[in-house]
Amino acid sequence: MPTTITHALIAVCAAKAVAPANAPTRFCATAAICSMLPDADVLAFLVGIPYRHVLGHRGFSHSLSFAFLLAGAAAVSLLRREDGFTRRDLFHWVFFFFITASHGVLDALTDGGLGIALLAPFDNQRYFLPWTPIEVSPIGIQGLFSRRGWLVMQSELFWVWLPSACLLLLSAMTRAARRKWRRFP
Ligand SMILES: [Zn+2]
Repeated sequence: MPTTITHALIAVCAAKAVAPANAPTRFCATAAICSMLPDADVLAFLVGIPYRHVLGHRGFSHSLSFAFLLAGAAAVSLLRREDGFTRRDLFHWVFFFFITASHGVLDALTDGGLGIALLAPFDNQRYFLPWTPIEVSPIGIQGLFSRRGWLVMQSELFWVWLPSACLLLLSAMTRAARRKWRRFP
């Protein structure tokens, strides 16, 4: 997996890029939680669920089905009761789906561990993408403070942080340009 902080960074950058100016802070926070939550499945090791099991690490919680369900719950958590389910809530559902699904896809770009059960529970096979440029992160905090951890951070800075920063910059420039054009009569 990329490190948890990297998953959260993508979510926050994407949320900042698409959110309207008046979006509540909860929107970004919910996106960050959606992006990180799949890795809660490392708890499976503590209760003796094998890595290869569908409920093991990189199993169901990294699938598109899980992303769909979690995104629905996240959208409901931001629902304004007085308005009912609106297009805004549908947008939240779709956005949180992509954010949660990005976790499994990013993990599938790493070069180690077992693959990702992207299609679980319909197909429990583990998949990697054909191109795996990101160094796989060690499980646990200790591994990050090592030579291996430094290699992982360099890899994530180049393949994930840099494109995320570019996305954010591009979004800020587009918004600034739109504001400028609106000032013209
Ligand atoms: Zn993961």
